[in-house]
Amino acid sequence: MSDFEKLAELLFPTILKTPEDYENLYPERGLKEGARVSRFSPSPTGYLHFGGLYAATASMLNARVTDGVFYLRIEDTDKKREVEGGVDAIVDGLNYFGLTVDEGVTGSDSEKGDYGPYTQSKRAEIYQTFAKDLVKKGLAYPCFCSAEELEEIREAQADEDIKGYWGKYAKCRDLSYDEIKANIDAGKLWTLRLKSMGDPENRIKFDDLIRGKIEMQENVIDVVLLKTDGIPTYHFAHAVDDHLMRTTHVVRGDEWIASVPLHIQLFKTLGFRPVKYAHIAPIMKEEDGGKRKLSKRKDPEAAVSYYVEEGFPQESVSEYILTILNSNFEDWRRANRDAELSAFPFNLKKMSVSGALFDMMKLIDVSKNVISTMTADRVFALSYEWAKQFNPDLAALYEKDTDYAKAVLNIDRGNKKPRKDIAKWSDIPDYISYMYDESFIPCFELTGNATPALAVEVLEKYRDIVDLDDDKDAWFEKIKSICEPCGCTPNVKEFKQNPEAFRGHVGDVSTVIRVALTGRTNTPDLYSITALLGKERVLNRIDGAIKFYGEEA
Ligand code: GLU
Repeated sequence: MSDFEKLAELLFPTILKTPEDYENLYPERGLKEGARVSRFSPSPTGYLHFGGLYAATASMLNARVTDGVFYLRIEDTDKKREVEGGVDAIVDGLNYFGLTVDEGVTGSDSEKGDYGPYTQSKRAEIYQTFAKDLVKKGLAYPCFCSAEELEEIREAQADEDIKGYWGKYAKCRDLSYDEIKANIDAGKLWTLRLKSMGDPENRIKFDDLIRGKIEMQENVIDVVLLKTDGIPTYHFAHAVDDHLMRTTHVVRGDEWIASVPLHIQLFKTLGFRPVKYAHIAPIMKEEDGGKRKLSKRKDPEAAVSYYVEEGFPQESVSEYILTILNSNFEDWRRANRDAELSAFPFNLKKMSVSGALFDMMKLIDVSKNVISTMTADRVFALSYEWAKQFNPDLAALYEKDTDYAKAVLNIDRGNKKPRKDIAKWSDIPDYISYMYDESFIPCFELTGNATPALAVEVLEKYRDIVDLDDDKDAWFEKIKSICEPCGCTPNVKEFKQNPEAFRGHVGDVSTVIRVALTGRTNTPDLYSITALLGKERVLNRIDGAIKFYGEEA
């Protein structure tokens, strides 16, 4: 037995498997040519961040457009940073926004797929098997340096360009088997370090699918692979995982770019086929004329729970994410109005290098469009689910009469040009407030040519002729019929030609009625509103308005 082999046995006496065992357990996937395997591998350190959802979407689409595999891996090797419920927050967040995984973690205690376990803390034996193999090959070694010694190294390196455990600073790199054994017998703790074969003179090049060609200095640092408790660092764990899970594309945040030379080296040292990288720039936000990163601390919209609480439907958020993921999405959407999002030919190469800009107004616009094409039943169902959790008053209103609620939501829906009043479910209480006496707030402010005196005349006449059995044409004819007796014209053109001759036109007459019935000057179709309010409420509201304007006039 060589010294390296003896050392491997000394360090990992309980590890009996070999890398080959795992290679056989997790065979090549046998997917069709060009199919990509991509993952989302967050650490369960808190809520799901909008940037995470964005990156996960990119990674998922990258797999889907090639009929590949998208999986979720939980990277929980840093137990200090883990928060309770962190895994559920990720899984629920992905589910809510319609991101489905083909494989991987599906809950805090569940997963699916043949390449698991997909949670790093359950893979200790796998990492140690590969670590043992590196030791056996002389490619990794135990380091006994204490925190104080590492601090001394840091101090001694103040003037060095390359800082870290390397070259002459790597004190434990060349310890003999006997020295190591003596340390271990003395009960000294050890970490396992990579024996880097890098040379500071060498540069490595790689092609990032988003950023293009990148050239960097080769890694020379003997990084820690396993910590003193035998738990791997992210660098080591992800290399083993991405290989054994047969990942082809690593799509992740660009804070990892600096680590790519190390990661490429790890892949090579471990004898793995390299993956392709796509590093995603952070989401930006405009502020005070400049740009800054969307911030977990400052921006409520950075947490995906914000969209859930505000009631942005999943479809809207997904559609919006696509608009900022690929610049050609909006053109595609115009040409394919009814297509499913999954039909979009997503391309990592079309992602922004400088960082996509988050724009709330744009999200609102996108969402209004999306909601305007939904049926009333769907708007009702989704907003009712939302209301049960976040707005019990709205849920109670709905429950009083669900058919009425659906009819209210159906006003102007299904038209060629549906109205775009609702961007999120939390807009609904205000949007429908005048359709319920509980929430109707009278407001008698008039616009256009209407005056209180005209309003009294219009409303008194309207009150006498309004008939809820009228169809829309008959109803509108009646509105026109009260124009002349009130000194207005039913013809807007005529009014424009000779404004002095009239007190107003049919639009002003409608406004008076609209304001009396709804407290607003802009609403969806007034005929439908009138029909749904019913005779009693219509007359009550008209009487209230006549009283108000009578006192004003
Ligand atoms: N667990 C890493 C993080 O949360 C993910 C890095 C990766 O996707 O490879 O930052």
